[in-house]
Amino acid sequence: MRRLTGIGVSPGVVSGRAVILIQRAQVLRYQIVETRLGPELARLEQSRTRSRQQLLDIRARVALRRPELASLFDAQLLMLDDPMLVSRVSDIVREQRVNAEWAVQQAFLEFSSVFDEAADPYLRERKGDVSDLAGRLKMNLQQGAATPRELLRELDESSVIIADELTPSLAAQVDWSKVRGFATDAGSRTSHTAILARSLEVPAVVGLHNASKVVQAGQLVVIDGTAGAVLADPTPDELARAERGEEHRPSAGGDAERRRPATTADGVRIRLEANIEFPNDLAAARYAGAEGIGLYRSEFILSGSAGAAIGEDEQYETYRGMLEGMAPETVTVRTFDVDEDQLASQLTRRALAGGWTADEARASRQGLRGLRLSLTRPEPFQVQLRALLRAALDCPRGQLRIMFPFVSSVEQLREARRMVKEAAAELARRGAAVPVVPIGVVIEIPAAAYTADLLAREVDFFTIGTNDLIQYCLAVDRADERVSRLYEPLHPAILRVILMVRRAAGRQRIPVSLCGEMASDPALLTLLVGLGLREFSMTPAAIPTAKQVLAEVRTDDLRALARRILKLATVEDIERELMAAFSRTANRT
Ligand code: PEP
Ligand code: MG
Repeated sequence: MRRLTGIGVSPGVVSGRAVILIQRAQVLRYQIVETRLGPELARLEQSRTRSRQQLLDIRARVALRRPELASLFDAQLLMLDDPMLVSRVSDIVREQRVNAEWAVQQAFLEFSSVFDEAADPYLRERKGDVSDLAGRLKMNLQQGAATPRELLRELDESSVIIADELTPSLAAQVDWSKVRGFATDAGSRTSHTAILARSLEVPAVVGLHNASKVVQAGQLVVIDGTAGAVLADPTPDELARAERGEEHRPSAGGDAERRRPATTADGVRIRLEANIEFPNDLAAARYAGAEGIGLYRSEFILSGSAGAAIGEDEQYETYRGMLEGMAPETVTVRTFDVDEDQLASQLTRRALAGGWTADEARASRQGLRGLRLSLTRPEPFQVQLRALLRAALDCPRGQLRIMFPFVSSVEQLREARRMVKEAAAELARRGAAVPVVPIGVVIEIPAAAYTADLLAREVDFFTIGTNDLIQYCLAVDRADERVSRLYEPLHPAILRVILMVRRAAGRQRIPVSLCGEMASDPALLTLLVGLGLREFSMTPAAIPTAKQVLAEVRTDDLRALARRILKLATVEDIERELMAAFSRTANRT
């Protein structure tokens, strides 16, 4: 048994057979079942034939102009038939039951180490040929090969995914009803994949550093999302515990309990809405007792699009379906908040019909995302806004709110509002009526928090996005496991900034909610109520517990707790004070 420790981001304990996805190296490793060994080896043979033909063609073309260079390709042609190479690849496929791409990678690593040790510089230079040929074989294996989407479709009910990283676009393609749990090398509590795992109630551990290397394809593993651990080859006891794992799943309580609105012990109503990523999550949100959708992360539509541009009608259908599914409650749609990961994905770039260049994709790392990105790409933004306005018009029973992400200045907000007017004008030109839709912003950049009083004059509502606000206030990348310990919602700076935004909204009498992951933590939630917040949006699975906890606390106690905490200087002291108050509540229940 081997135990790997990471960050538990979605509770529960499950066991399953590992499917390994390695994306960073562009080579996926997955297990081949007995019956697929033959086709897998045939695929390898086809790749060898194709590679040989390509090399012969290149050789012939080069020979016409530079005969002296043609022989360079002879080395690769010879290697293709070298028994140490391609037949070693087939052995690896057969013995380890792994896919051919992965076997090529392994065989070539072994082979090139022979060249590393060669004393003869000519031989050492041949290492370049080895990796060139490996690249060609892998490229040709891709032709007609399973895409990650197809591969993921082949998961069976006993699978757990172990990945170096699970990007939102790949996660969007997984059939989660078939996946028992997942674990990744990268990531932190607030990475999008972690958020997704919690909303799907799939046990998950992230920030494991090297799980995708240590765990073997097909190996039996336990994923303990509660303790933040992965066990490879677990003992029978650990396995038995995992098999009883259902008891660790969060429970949504009884029907009446779920429908009851959240109220504190002294009768103060707290509004709990749901954060969702897919329209299908509406059912989970309703089941959990959400009073509305406080955050629909609309960019997830793009990752499911398989690369096609998402048209106005298609988006309109999605938004309208959501409004109808949730009517008469509110649905707050956040316009595309395409982030660095998604922008890096070719699929999303195409789905936005933007045709980004590699330079622009790189520039996004410095923050070309959210509203900033939409303002640089007016056409896809207009399409989204028109689709939203049409949906609001055609579903008068529902209540749409539009929210802009990643706003850092009043100018950007004004420009975005101008774009909404332009979308409305286009609808009017088509002869349609134009609905009035509340417009809000996510306060998630420190600049927006510091100018919340100015922004509040020009919007209908605020939502505090603490996931990003924390990372930008504390200068801690939320997806980087190396600094995840510094990502601290209880930092005095964060509590002060939240209070500042809440007050700015209060002075302007606009509603303010908080939709970051902080709200899903019952202890932090009580502190936020103490800071004066009354509206929250969270992953649906967290709502029932939030209701139970709120029913046990009094707002005057929480206000006093917040006052004491605001005087403390360190996270450790704040945590101690909060936990002492929280355990007193827990003991009473
Ligand atoms: C946030 O930043 O707090 C938020 C809710 O949005 P996301 O996690 O999608 O960035
Ligand atoms: Mg955000």
